[in-house]
Order: sequence, then structure tokens, then C-alpha cells
Amino acid sequence: MKKDYDVIVIGSGIGGLACAGILASKGLKVLVLEKNANPGGYLTSFKRKGFIFDSAVDCFSGMDKNGAVRYLLQQLDIGDKIDFIKIDPIRESVFPGMRIKTWNNVNAYIENLKELFPSEKNIDSFFKEMGNIYSGINRWLTGIAQYEKNKPALPSVFLNYGGLTYKSLMDSYLYDERLKSILSDRCSFLGLPPSKISVINTAAALMSYFTSGAYRVVGGCQKLPDTLTTGIKEKGGHILFKKEITEIIMEDNKVIGVATADGTQYTSHFIVSNIDYTETFSLLNGGRHSSEAQDRFNEYGISPSFFILYIGTAADLSFLGSSSSIGYFSSFDMEKAFDFKNSFTDAAPIGLTIPSITDHSMAPQNSHSIVIHQLTDYTYTKKWKEEKKRLSEIIIRRAEKIIPTIKDNAIHIEAATPATLERYTANFRGAAYGWQPVPWLRPIKTGIDNLYLAGHWSGLGGGIIAAIYSGFKAAREILKQVS
Ligand SMILES: Cc1cc2nc3c(=O)[nH]c(=O)nc-3n(C[C@H](O)[C@H](O)[C@H](O)COP(=O)(O)OP(=O)(O)OC[C@H]3O[C@@H](n4cnc5c(N)ncnc54)[C@H](O)[C@@H]3O)c2cc1C
Repeated sequence: MKKDYDVIVIGSGIGGLACAGILASKGLKVLVLEKNANPGGYLTSFKRKGFIFDSAVDCFSGMDKNGAVRYLLQQLDIGDKIDFIKIDPIRESVFPGMRIKTWNNVNAYIENLKELFPSEKNIDSFFKEMGNIYSGINRWLTGIAQYEKNKPALPSVFLNYGGLTYKSLMDSYLYDERLKSILSDRCSFLGLPPSKISVINTAAALMSYFTSGAYRVVGGCQKLPDTLTTGIKEKGGHILFKKEITEIIMEDNKVIGVATADGTQYTSHFIVSNIDYTETFSLLNGGRHSSEAQDRFNEYGISPSFFILYIGTAADLSFLGSSSSIGYFSSFDMEKAFDFKNSFTDAAPIGLTIPSITDHSMAPQNSHSIVIHQLTDYTYTKKWKEEKKRLSEIIIRRAEKIIPTIKDNAIHIEAATPATLERYTANFRGAAYGWQPVPWLRPIKTGIDNLYLAGHWSGLGGGIIAAIYSGFKAAREILKQVS
């Protein structure tokens, strides 16, 4: 039967756009359907009183020679339509009595750690092993993008390290608990403590920035999905906004199209779902979650969410130098820090992102746009709306440890809760990274013919780069079927 499209992509998160971008660049007839008025999902920005705020994302890698973002832009011939800023330091972590800058140059970072912890003799070996793990992952991921070649074999790092936690690797090299905590500062970007997090996901998050650099989009991250949308359209693809999918239509065990809330139906040979995993299965099953979806939830669990404060301020931040991403930890106890019962207490770290330090287009003159992140769990309270003001005050008090005048000079203050994130992106409970990055997390097959997943629920991990590679992977599997 003739279909309207080769491929329908549900959702225009970065994983969905990556998949649609590759397929459109290869000449397939692609349609992306997005429930919001803008593309990007979590990768989005908004404007208030002259300030631009990146809603969620601080930074990402993937702009080096073989990087995922660069590759995608090249495939769509739009590399010259967008600018990026490489940030250095990538992060400054503030611990009791210590401020540690993570420089782009890993050797500078290592030397700093060696000076702070002279009795630790294995810091070099620890980084060597982390580097080897990352190289294995990276070779496999970049292989996915090379469509002409055979499917890249799963590298041995997955077998050797797939079951290990980050803590177990650190324990085999390092002694000082403070050093281990400093090296776990990136757990804020993954949402689990070192004792629970997979070493594979941690190596990817930590080492990718050293290898490839940490970047933000000039003028706000919304420009990336916007530019990709332009590129997809220029390659003949279609993207429709305010189109919420309410059903994935199946015949036997095969998907054949979708229905939207306004009653329209679109048919296609393949469907790629870029949305929440349980939601995908509920769209297939007339609103019921499948037992497979339930099993996944029980096996992996979902990542936490965030409470986010957006502050436009006239405070003078020159004392921060070039540090535009700061993690504030009031203790070295990382297990307590990432136990979300402790959210909004002194035990919980906060992250401050101030993109206007390196990109003046993000705020009016002599002002700054600040985004403060507090990891938390959706179930922390049932009354997010009523609690917003009180919790915002707690976060501001904590942020004053880094920027003492943050509130006095505030021009705009606004908060987003896990409920806001869930409402905007339809990620269950506002999960920031899809599944929890626990050991043995692996790519997911839907078990339904012609239905693929792209994005942070597809089992490659959370974050922009993992979501892009998952989009490449779904595209690769479809291209293999049509060629
Ligand atoms: C606060 C926060 C900070 C983060 N910081 C970073 C960071 O610094 N670096 C990093 O790499 N990652 C970061 N992440 C993680 C990263 O943002 C996500 O992992 C990634 O953006 C997920 O992309 P995705 O492709 O899975 O799609 P999502 O972003 O989840 O988008 C899904 C899209 O599908 C649409 N949709 C949902 N249901 C439907 C439907 N029924 N019909 C049509 N459309 C639908 C949604 O509207 C949305 O546009 C952060 C996340 C959060 C929340």
C-alpha cells in the first residue's frame, strides 16, 4: 500500500532531529511531528526582559572533527548557519576549602589534582583507563554514523566494564575520598551517585569533554534545533508543530502510521519514536502501558528531574573570571549529595550556568542570565506549584554562597519544576536523562516491526550526544532495510 511518508518521527527532541536529518539527507521522505510550537524538547531556550535562558542544557561536546553535532550539521549542509562557543574551564567545582577548575586540557586538570593530592600515585593510571574506556565507546559510536560501512561490532569495553560502577573503578586506583568526590562532580550531569552509576556512562560524560571540548550555541541553544529544522526542510523533509500524536497505528505486529490530536492520520513505512518510552507503548496500546515497558522500568528505573531557577541579574560577575559553569558542593559526601531525599538541603549540590559570561548576546548590557540547577525527584512533593516560591528561596540562599548579590540585583526570577519539565517534554516525571545510567544499560529494540526509538530512552544513555547517536543508529537501521 502506498504510504504518505517513508518515515515519521514522533517528537523533535535532538534525537528525533538527528534521525530525521540523516534520513532526509539520504533522500528519504521524512515527516517530523512535534506537539510543541518549537523544536528541541529539552534543548530549547526562551526570552524574558531581554535575557535569553537555555531552559535545561548547560553544554555538550560533539563539535570536534568526528563529533556528532558537527557530522549532523555537515550532512545537512548547514554548518555555516550556526556558531558555537567552546567554554574553558568546562566547569568549576566548589568544595569545602577547595575550588577546582576542569580545564579543556586534561593534562592541566590532572596536574592540578596531583598538586592537591600529592600522596595519590595513580591519578595518571586512573585517567589512562578512563581514556581507554571512552576511546572504545567513541570508536563504536562514530562507526554508527558511517552508513556505508558494516555495522560496527560492540567493542570489548562493554563486556569488560559494562557491569562496573564508577565507584568501583575509582576505588581500584584512588584512596582519598575527597579526590573521589571531586572526580564525581560530573554525577550532577548524570543524576546518580558514584556507587550506582555505570563507569561506561561516566567515562563518556567526563572524557568526551576533554577529547572534544564543551560547547554552547551562540545566542542560545534553541538555535541548534531551529537550524536543524531548516536543514531538514532544505533536504525535502517536513516538520509540523502543535501536532500531538495520540495513537501509533498498527497492523498485525507492524506500525503503519500515526493519528494526531486534531484527528489527522499520516501513514508511513517506518516510525521513529523520540518520546518517553512508556508513552510510546501507551500510544500503541490504546493508553495501556505494556508489560515490556513495565519490565524496563523495574530493571533500570528512570533518571531524576530538576528544579531550575532562571535569574536575570545586573550583578557584577567579573569576580568569576571565565567560569561560566559552577558546581557548588557544601560537603564531600557524594552519596548524600545524590540522594534526592536531600534535595533543597545543604547536602545537595547546585549547578550555576552563566552563559552570558562568554556570550554577551545572552543578556542586556552589564547583565547576566543565570540558570541554577537542583537535581531532584518528581515525588519530592505533590505540590510543585504551591511549593515553587519556597523552594526558589532555598535555592537562592544556596546560590548566594557563590554569587552573594544574586537576589539584590535580580531583574527577573522564574522557576521550572519537574512538573514543568514533564508538561513541556512529556518525559515521565520530568526525567532529565531518560533511564538511569546504571550498569548494563543497553540499546533497546521495540519488538515491533518498523518501530525504532531515538533519544534518551533508546538505551544509549542520556544527554545531547547520546541522543544524537541514538538518532543516527535508528537512521542506520532504517537505511539498511530500504537499501
Ligand atoms: C535540566 C536539564 C539539564 C540538562 N543538561 C544537559 C547538559 O548540560 N548536557 C547534555 O548533554 N544533556 C543535558 N541534559 C539532558 C538532555 O537535555 C536530554 O538527554 C536530551 O535533550 C534528550 O533528547 P531527546 O532526543 O531524548 O528528546 P526530548 O528532549 O525528551 O524531546 C522529546 C520531544 O518529543 C515531543 N513529544 C513528546 N510527546 C509527544 C507526542 N505525543 N506527540 C508529539 N511530540 C511529542 C516533546 O514535546 C519533545 O519536543 C539535561 C536535561 C535537563 C532536564
